[in-house]
Amino acid sequence: MTIETLLIANRGEIAVRIIRAAKALGMRTVQVYSQADAKSLAVRLADEAIEIGPPAAKKSYLNIEAVLAAAKAAKADAVHPGYGFLSENADFADAVVAAGMKFVGPSGDAIRLLGDKVAARRVAAQAGVPTVPGSNGRVGGVEEAREIVERIGFPVMIKAAAGGGGRGIRIVGSMEEFERQFPQASAEAAAAFGDGGLYIEKVIERARHVEVQILGDGKNFVHCFERECSLQRRRQKVWEEAPSVSLTEDVRTKLCASAVALARSVGYSGAGTVEYLYDDETGQFYFIEVNTRIQVEHPVTEMITGIDLVQEMLRIAGGAPLSVRQEDIAISGHAIECRINAEDPSRDFMPAPGLVSALDVPDSEGVRFDTLLWAGYEVPPFYDSLLGKLIVRGKDRADCLARLRVALDGLNIEGIPTTVGLHRALAADPEVAASRYHTRFLEHWLLTAFASPQGSRELAR
Ligand code: ADP
Ligand code: ADP
Ligand code: MG
Repeated sequence: MTIETLLIANRGEIAVRIIRAAKALGMRTVQVYSQADAKSLAVRLADEAIEIGPPAAKKSYLNIEAVLAAAKAAKADAVHPGYGFLSENADFADAVVAAGMKFVGPSGDAIRLLGDKVAARRVAAQAGVPTVPGSNGRVGGVEEAREIVERIGFPVMIKAAAGGGGRGIRIVGSMEEFERQFPQASAEAAAAFGDGGLYIEKVIERARHVEVQILGDGKNFVHCFERECSLQRRRQKVWEEAPSVSLTEDVRTKLCASAVALARSVGYSGAGTVEYLYDDETGQFYFIEVNTRIQVEHPVTEMITGIDLVQEMLRIAGGAPLSVRQEDIAISGHAIECRINAEDPSRDFMPAPGLVSALDVPDSEGVRFDTLLWAGYEVPPFYDSLLGKLIVRGKDRADCLARLRVALDGLNIEGIPTTVGLHRALAADPEVAASRYHTRFLEHWLLTAFASPQGSRELAR
């Protein structure tokens, strides 16, 4: 039953991460790549590499036929989809299985159910998980919406049922605005996600983003505690931590139990994340969505629990039961992850690909740098701007922050602008040190503290 040859249907740092986990389990690794990625670290590290098409993702990493053809040519017995690209595409999961291989993730049906954000809200409610007040299903039009917004009150969010990556979300403050934005949002969602379906949620003000890591093998379900990802820009995570210092023990217990109840209710298999908004003044948490895949920020959970989540995914896909029992999973210390992007903070975080002329990586106890970089590598312009993730563990949050400052000082990426300077400033900020923030904090912080040209140059250093 175990997997001998694994095809990695992704690129970048997560492809590198998956190759390492697969090799540790004795698997042969086969990496697919686009013409823009021939010189990538993943291609260099894998046992075999197969080109699947031109740089544009639609013609390579999102091309189901090309990826499946590579998997068959490599005689792979499993496919790991990573995150983004085809990772939450139920038809791809089904096609992998129909071709006689294992999909490293939940079944196509589970992805269909939980990947649709409206259907997932229903699943959560049925499992007894509190959801954000809002529409019960997709909203057909402005008239239907009127009743809902009158009940929950403005401001509300119009969200795309198929949205992701922080896209497909609009905040509206009045009925006039709603009437104007709703048709636009629907057209945009149809164009971006191939599904114009929309739903409505009340805006939870001053919320924190807290999410629970789950693992299931179809019969047993565990949680690996929570991560806090409140430092965001444009609804995309920038800095993540585990555990969340904003939770009381009582709330943590309820939150994690709710995620396990949801996983159990659908017979979940693989790794997944249940995302919530948390109001630390009332102690109330609200389900927002499930990600049926490995997440970018999974390493902070690995650092505090000692569980290798990618190895666990591969074992489960190979047919093994969960290797961990709930009572054996404990939090030890604190971990923080900084997403290092090829972006220019002095130009509104414009993507800035190019040649990396030099690279120094910090290397000490409790420091991990998951990256696609090597000195001399030319970052291609076709994909998202994530270069790597600096992850640091300390015995508690203060110790972790102190180690993070040292590690950020030792991280030097030359040749292209990056967000390392932003993270240095965040790690030195007293509000961040006190963990006094919510999901709108970072955007506000960027507008006030670093609005001047000097400020943004400082960040860009
Ligand atoms: P995480 O939830 O793991 O933090 P992100 O929201 O940062 O993940 O998304 C992970 C990756 O997947 C990013 O590259 C993001 O752009 C991409 N992504 C996620 N959902 C979608 C989607 N529906 N459409 C396009 N890209 C997506
Ligand atoms: P995506 O699928 O793009 O990841 P999510 O539904 O997970 O979208 O929301 C992304 C982010 O948007 C959240 O982390 C939070 O910052 C913000 N957000 C989403 N829903 C709400 C809400 N109802 N109230 C306030 N903020 C929200
Ligand atoms: Mg999300």
